[in-house]
Amino acid sequence: MSTSESSSESPSGMGLPPEPSGMPSGPSSTSPKKATSKPKRFLRLSADGKRLSIIRGKRVDSYVVERLDPHPMCGRLAWRLTKMVDGRSSNVYDVILTQWGVQCDCRGFLRWGKCKHVDSLFAAGKFSLLTIR
Ligand SMILES: [Zn+2]
Repeated sequence: MSTSESSSESPSGMGLPPEPSGMPSGPSSTSPKKATSKPKRFLRLSADGKRLSIIRGKRVDSYVVERLDPHPMCGRLAWRLTKMVDGRSSNVYDVILTQWGVQCDCRGFLRWGKCKHVDSLFAAGKFSLLTIR
């Protein structure tokens, strides 16, 4: 007789899918960060929004940002980051916004569920118009 878990707070009739409830990435350590050995990451976006630089310490990665037009079944918005090294393209990463969230096809994302490409595009506001908040 103790079934009191239904909060009955949510309004009915919302067609929203359930949230993915976070990434299952690692243990939830609540220890405060003290030793910040990593240099802070900065972003620089060119005025036309087509060049993105990720600056970390002395290291600068520059990318060409192109908007892709994904198939509606695949996603709602996608960006292609082409990493430029010495004026030449070296790696291409496609970051796509799907109904489940943002995905990148780099190895870091596959492994950790997050990566600097996704972070940077969010920070640059490339997904801010469309993201579910
Ligand atoms: Zn990535």
